[in-house]
Parts: sequence; structure tokens; C-alpha cells
Amino acid sequence: MKKYLAGLTLAEMENIVTEEFHQPKFRAKQLYEWVYKAKEIDEMTNLPKNFRQELQLSYDSFALESKSVLKEQKSETEKYLLRTKDDIIIEAVLLRYEHGSSVCVSTQAGCGMHCKFCASGKNGLLRNLTAGEIISQVLIISRLAGVEVTNIVLMGSGEPLNNYNEVKKFIYLANDEKALNISIRKITLSTCGIIPGIRKMIDDELFVNLSLSLHSPIHEMRLDMMPAEKAYPVKDVIKACDEYRAASKRRMTYEYCVIEGLNDTDECANELYKLIGHSDGLVNLIDVNSGSGAYDENTKGVCEVFKEKLDKRGINATLRRKLGSSINAACGQLKAQYEAEYEE
Ligand code: SF4
Repeated sequence: MKKYLAGLTLAEMENIVTEEFHQPKFRAKQLYEWVYKAKEIDEMTNLPKNFRQELQLSYDSFALESKSVLKEQKSETEKYLLRTKDDIIIEAVLLRYEHGSSVCVSTQAGCGMHCKFCASGKNGLLRNLTAGEIISQVLIISRLAGVEVTNIVLMGSGEPLNNYNEVKKFIYLANDEKALNISIRKITLSTCGIIPGIRKMIDDELFVNLSLSLHSPIHEMRLDMMPAEKAYPVKDVIKACDEYRAASKRRMTYEYCVIEGLNDTDECANELYKLIGHSDGLVNLIDVNSGSGAYDENTKGVCEVFKEKLDKRGINATLRRKLGSSINAACGQLKAQYEAEYEE
């Protein structure tokens, strides 16, 4: 099986170029820039032909290949199914905006967190993705769609903070001006609340936008929806988020799938106020209508009514209902919505 260049740092490429191929060190800089411009090896025109040929014998540019693209008809949203070298299919989503393009990446094949409303977690975790496999999602999409990617969201399948080192390396490469050159402020990571991971982000000053899949302020209810609540109770998670807010100076986002008759009650609004009323974070309310089937469809207007309850209590909240904008929804919920939309 061929190795791949995507996901390597400049120092790692220097090592390969000089040690494996006995080329001068400056070739690594050229290689680095080409790879993160999403070029295949035979397109790297300023590298000597014999070096490119030798390189191609053992390396590809990308860790993945495209299997198929599904376009959502009503919006500028495209879902890409991509194949890893060991034949696992993963997915990533492109959203085109007027002023840029956002890619939602998967960080694990499958997911071990088993959130009740999520399709990604149904079959458990297959394996962590490497930084190369995560960044290849962005590279292949920008190449196939012919777009410059301006925003990245880590909200596809997987819990990013359970794959911390590879995710950290990916964020470094996404942000590096000689690689993807995407502002750290335009990278959003969604977690179901892995406290040690949030603390590591603080220690490493990995200050992307942090989004918590909250979904209920009540321990027992959240435990039923999200088994992660057992190890990381919501009160403790919010404390870690407050620490992140203070250290990063970035406003938190709280994702909240509204489920009629369950987490849309006055009691939930009151508990939510107790939990995050002190914070300047934003609650993204998501309608679960097209979710994985774990909950019944909401009656029309349920999210609006719950939003009013939050407004009255002075909690910042916004509605995310359209599929196109659901890229900002909780991880996995997005996948569930797509699976409801398309037949694969
Ligand atoms: S919502 Fe996110 S953390 Fe939960 S099972 Fe789905 S992918 Fe995993």
C-alpha cells in the first residue's frame, strides 16, 4: 500500500526528501506547498521529473480517493464519500457561501460515543483517522469542487477530542500559512464534552471555535441521550467550557437538538438558564425532524416556542433548521439528516 504526503509537516517532508530520496532540502518546501495546494505528484511542475517518478512509486499526494458526490438540490451543499487506503468509506460535506466555502470533516471512521440521535455512532468506532486522512478531505473537496476552502468545521463523524493528537496536527496544518492558511478563527470543533480534551486544548492554546453538543441541561435526561454524560456530567463540562472561554477569549456555542415534549419544557429552559445563564455563549437550536429516527418528528413551530422561552430568560439562542445551515448543527446530526435525504 502506498504512503501519502498529505498530513506531513514541513520537517517530516524534509526528512523524507533528504533521507529517502537524497534530494536537497529546499525540495521539501516545494513539495509541501504543492501538496497543500491539492496537487497530485505529476502536477508538481518545479520538481525534477525523475524525482517525481521516484516519489510516485511509494507515495500518493492524498490519503483518500473520491468514491461519489451527492449534491443537495435545494442548496449549495455537497456530500463527498471518500475511500481510505484500507477501504473504509468516510464522508465530508462542502457548503458554498456567498463569501467562501466551508468543509465539514470527519475525524474518526464511525464513532464510539453512541449519542441516541446520531447515525454516525450506531455501528460504533471503526478507527481514528490520521491527520493526513482528515486534511485529505479538505484537499480533495477543494480540488474536485474547484473552490478555495475558507472555513473548516470538525463536525462530521467522530468525537474529535478522542483523537486529540491527529486532530491537533490537522488544525496546525490547516492554519499554517504555507499549508492551508485558514485562520484559526474560521475553524470550529464540536465535542460532546470530553473534559480532558478541552483542558488539553487550553494547555496547547488550540483556540479554535468550540461548540458543545449540549442537548439537555438535566443530567438524567442527557445521560439517556448521550452516554458521554456518565463520564463527563454536564455541570463539569460547562465549567471546562467556561475555562476555555476565559483562556481563548472565544464565545462558546451550545448545540441543542429540540425534541418535543422532552427537552423543550419550562423546566429545561430554567435549568439551561442555571447552567449557562452566566455565559455569553450562543445556543444553536436544531429541529430533529429528519434525524436518525430515535425520536418522533416535532410539530411545526416547536423550536420557535422553545426559543421564546430562552429569549425570555435572556439566553442567546438562534434557530438552525435548514439542511444547508445544519452544517452548524451537532456532529452526527448532520449525517443523520443526509442519510434521511439520500439513498446511497
Ligand atoms: S453526535 Fe458526534 S459524538 Fe455523538 S455519536 Fe454522533 S458523531 Fe459521535
